[in-house]
Amino acid sequence: MINQTLILIKPDGLKKSLTGNVLTRLSETKLDIVAAKIARVSKKLAEEHYKEMKDKPFFNELIKYIMGHYHKKKVMALVYWGEDAIKKVRQICGSTNPEEADTVSIRGQYGRITTKGVYENVIHASTNGKEAEREIKLWFQPDEVIMDIYSTKTAKTDKEVWVWA
Ligand code: UDP
Ligand code: MG
Repeated sequence: MINQTLILIKPDGLKKSLTGNVLTRLSETKLDIVAAKIARVSKKLAEEHYKEMKDKPFFNELIKYIMGHYHKKKVMALVYWGEDAIKKVRQICGSTNPEEADTVSIRGQYGRITTKGVYENVIHASTNGKEAEREIKLWFQPDEVIMDIYSTKTAKTDKEVWVWA
């Protein structure tokens, strides 16, 4: 099945200069990159992204981690598209816990557990189609994705927009 998945190279990945390594590993999947950007993560975006985790004891630390409090205040967000994209990417990422992850997976190779108990596992990847849709729509506007992956509509707004001077 053709599908798409949201990937985040988390702040620890950027701080450790792992962007190239992670993208090289992901290229093994032969999937297409259909969106990419460097983004700052606001508290609102972080809490929305991880809203399913809000009852976990490590939630506050997780929000600080993804916002970049301990590393660089940025993430790289990408959308990968193609045959079994969600499954293939999750496989290369490895298990959530970097100590349990396959040693040649991205998380196994580059992740660590902090003394505060947070899994700094370098990469986020959506786990299923529903999650991928919610996450891609949260991180990207339709005009930032080069393929029509979800239906869109036109809407009139009177918002001020920021343009080059
Ligand atoms: N996490 C953690 N401790 C845990 C479980 C999760 O620090 O016991 C962090 C970890 O960074 C993980 C994120 O919370 O990537 C989201 O957790 P989830 O269970 O969704 O794992 P994922 O889908 O990222 O593999
Ligand atoms: Mg998850």
